[in-house]
Amino acid sequence: MYSKYAWEKYDDLEPIMSFNEGYKEFLSNGKNERLVVKESVELAKKHGFKELSEFETLKPGDKVYVTNKNKNIALFIIGEEKVSKGLNILGAHIDSPRIDVKQNPLYEAQNFALLDTHYYGGIKKYQWVTIPLCLVGVICKKDGSVIEVNIGDKEDDPVFGISDLLIHLSADQMQKNAAKVIEGEDLDLTIGSIPLKGKDKEAVKGNILKLLKDKYDVEEEDFLSAELEIVPAGKSRDYGLDRSMVAGYGHDDRVCAYTSLKAILDIDTPKRTACTILVDKEEIGSVGATGAQSRFFENIIATLISKQEDYNDLKLRSALTESYMLSSDVSAGVDPLYLGVNELKNSAFLGKGIVFNKYTGSRGKGGCNDAMPEYIAKLRNILDKENINYQTAELGRVDQGGGGTIAYILANLNMNVIDAGIAVLNMHAPMEVVSKVDVFEAYQAYKVFLLNIE
Ligand code: MN
Ligand code: MN
Repeated sequence: MYSKYAWEKYDDLEPIMSFNEGYKEFLSNGKNERLVVKESVELAKKHGFKELSEFETLKPGDKVYVTNKNKNIALFIIGEEKVSKGLNILGAHIDSPRIDVKQNPLYEAQNFALLDTHYYGGIKKYQWVTIPLCLVGVICKKDGSVIEVNIGDKEDDPVFGISDLLIHLSADQMQKNAAKVIEGEDLDLTIGSIPLKGKDKEAVKGNILKLLKDKYDVEEEDFLSAELEIVPAGKSRDYGLDRSMVAGYGHDDRVCAYTSLKAILDIDTPKRTACTILVDKEEIGSVGATGAQSRFFENIIATLISKQEDYNDLKLRSALTESYMLSSDVSAGVDPLYLGVNELKNSAFLGKGIVFNKYTGSRGKGGCNDAMPEYIAKLRNILDKENINYQTAELGRVDQGGGGTIAYILANLNMNVIDAGIAVLNMHAPMEVVSKVDVFEAYQAYKVFLLNIE
């Protein structure tokens, strides 16, 4: 159903609410890409998926997963047809905007110990000060051991924060524009203030180093091979008196990751091989070994083909060409307080179901994947048959801004791709908001896609 409010379709809201309870838990636990991969592997195993290396050959109905460097996961259900005939692919990203700790971060100033940082992805820096933050990530030591860090989310954990100037002394600061009011180098994290007894220089920093040594057995130099991410502390919550929405950190794009993951976990053997792939690094351009531009995906498809038939490169190329993909990524939901940035006939509304973006990009569709209308017609057909609510949108008014997703990267392999995801309010803020009914419609749309597009 095109552009209708999805709530009206349901007499019983219980399935929507309980699906979102699962999502809230996933989001609360998945504060970074490594944790999302971990949760995904656990869910996959519970649903009978096995690591690819456990399969000598592949037959219809086999449930397979592969991870890549702890930051990527691809799941497959082998279809009735051979993999070389093409796949139906859901692709979402599991990295979210955040603040990363620098390589040489720890310093002392005015009796505080602080960590110096470098933000990751597109953020409004002023949104990240004076809120409770937690630290998640890993510290890798020279002996090969990896220490997992996750401080600030448990009830009795301490939290951290980035300070901001009191209003009483902000006469100069308040004259600055929003891009400059909090600058990148001012996003440093306060982590302590007790001096180490008997040390007269940098005693507070000394005390933090002692704590790190006692609790984690790490030295200051171990920050060199650490990957510590600063993200909002606390769980995701119901939002609104009617509990119709979910507020939380990282909906972009873990909301599409969860729904795409659940879709493949919950379907039976499809005709064409079904795939959900969750990638890293989208927020910084999808580059690197764990981003969508990595050869990881092609390598895995090649491996699948080689476990079904004699492999050659043409079979891989043809599998990719014959594939269909939904780039499962969030869309900019219309905010009633900021209507000026939208053209309302072509905008995404919370509560109207899954959103298709034929194209994204900026300044005349620059850099976008512009989906084929033949493909969109197929999607309309399968969704209408199953009574799924969907809408179409652009990312704001022409020339207002713009953005991109992983869609064009997979489209470069010559498959049909379109962006299809969930509308978000406050995108990239520490607290983003989605509508529960959209989460549920997207999940169902993704299942219909995996089973029926051809
Ligand atoms: Mn995104
Ligand atoms: Mn984003």
